[in-house]
Amino acid sequence: TKSLVWFRRDLRDFDHAALYHALKDSTQVYCAFVFDTEILDKLTDKADRRVEFIWESLQELKAALLAKGGDLIVLHGNARDEIPKLAKSLGVESIYSNRDYEPAAITRDAYVAKAAGEENIAFHQFKDQVIFEQDEVLSLASKPYSVFTPYKNAHLKKLNDFYLSAYPVDRYSNYFAKPEKSFPDISLESMGFQRTNLKTMKLPTGMSGGATLFNDFTDRIQQYKAARDFPAVKGPSYLSVHLRFGTVSVRHLARTAWQMGGTGAEGWLNELIWRDFYFQILHHNPGVADGRSFKPEYEALPFPNNENLFKAWCDGKTGYPLVDAAMRQLNQTGWMHNRLRMVAASFLVKDLLIDWRWGEQYFAEKLIDFDFSANNGGWQWASSTGCDAQPYFRIFNPISQSEKFDAQGKFIRKYVPELKQCNDKEIHAPWLIPPLRQQALNIEIGHEYTLPIVDHGTQRALALALYKSAK
Ligand code: FAD
Repeated sequence: TKSLVWFRRDLRDFDHAALYHALKDSTQVYCAFVFDTEILDKLTDKADRRVEFIWESLQELKAALLAKGGDLIVLHGNARDEIPKLAKSLGVESIYSNRDYEPAAITRDAYVAKAAGEENIAFHQFKDQVIFEQDEVLSLASKPYSVFTPYKNAHLKKLNDFYLSAYPVDRYSNYFAKPEKSFPDISLESMGFQRTNLKTMKLPTGMSGGATLFNDFTDRIQQYKAARDFPAVKGPSYLSVHLRFGTVSVRHLARTAWQMGGTGAEGWLNELIWRDFYFQILHHNPGVADGRSFKPEYEALPFPNNENLFKAWCDGKTGYPLVDAAMRQLNQTGWMHNRLRMVAASFLVKDLLIDWRWGEQYFAEKLIDFDFSANNGGWQWASSTGCDAQPYFRIFNPISQSEKFDAQGKFIRKYVPELKQCNDKEIHAPWLIPPLRQQALNIEIGHEYTLPIVDHGTQRALALALYKSAK
């Protein structure tokens, strides 16, 4: 029997649920990836690090499949039509893919399943990108959790070798097949995209890139909890983009941390569980994908939404150095440190009084690791509209966050070089530097670096009133 494995956000040839099942059940397995115009056409910036990351990762995946006697067919078109058409032309009986939990993907997959079904081609889907999906972790009353800690406890209780073991793809690697006809090479340029600064950032792509980062991280995993909050320190794993595109296996990562134990590894496993948590929130509350807030009482908070303030935030020109450094890191690299995502999000909503959905959308455009569920969850957490969110009256102070998490201003100096001559105390609130000292430093606050666009104390009071009005 012949089958087709459709790769999407699982760009690897090992520990891969759909690939394993296809190889086990068939004698000839073809592999394909579609650069989906339904997604790509919506990207206005044609220099997109994600597209380049995928493209690079596919080169490695194709080489790996060729080495096993298979191949990777890469297409550019509307996946809804391309996949059933390809399946038919290859004469396969089944299509195998791993489940994607985003509402738009679910709609697309239902369409593909129907179109394939009309040709008597079966469509099989598997859990692969999370440890537990959908209804696998429920409360004792069989209800989905909306608070993280009990969810995590139930998740950890259920975790065992079975759920974390790898799919032994290589056991059946004799069954890879090559298509008879050849397919044209797809380049970034042929799709209308350009190279970005991905290469100069030295972000390693593909399965080898994911493995390199994870090896590096396991050497320092036990320091994770102590180091993870300081943006100038190499604390986290930097694996989010690899988890996003499946160049690593979440089972492998979780198994390693779970078996290691210790506060660092357990702390990190906790973050992988947050990832599962937000996926199941999306599954049980698909309305969040239509802009709904998780807490209905905060659905229509009357944000003033000043466009000039929003632009200053996007450009990293708010006058609050840590917020500006964070936004510039996002704009220049496509990644932002977790502590800073919280600070920048809180600042947008509770200092600039701008609808969290605006920030969510901006992050969605810029983040190389953009994942709908984690991004929406993070934004709703910061804006106090989400499940298990920060209570509305807890408002990050952008100055004390800066003093605490970037005490020496190392991170700020990297992204806000205008302030590099300020000392470690001055750098967090440069508008307080007396004029004579500004002269001595050869910097004029309000000229080389902007004055704060809002006053934190004033805005804090306004935010509290705004949230109270909705209660
Ligand atoms: P590590 O600290 O090494 O964590 C390991 C992995 O755990 C991450 O790669 C990620 O997959 C997962 N993880 C960590 N924290 C969270 C979290 N809070 N929620 C869900 N999963 C988590 N993460 C994304 O992957 N995509 C997003 O689009 C995204 N948007 C966010 C928006 C906001 C406003 C906030 C506050 C957080 C967001 N996060 C998002 C979560 C988190 O900031 C990133 O996962 C993390 O910074 C990625 O870096 P890392 O891989 O080094 O993380």
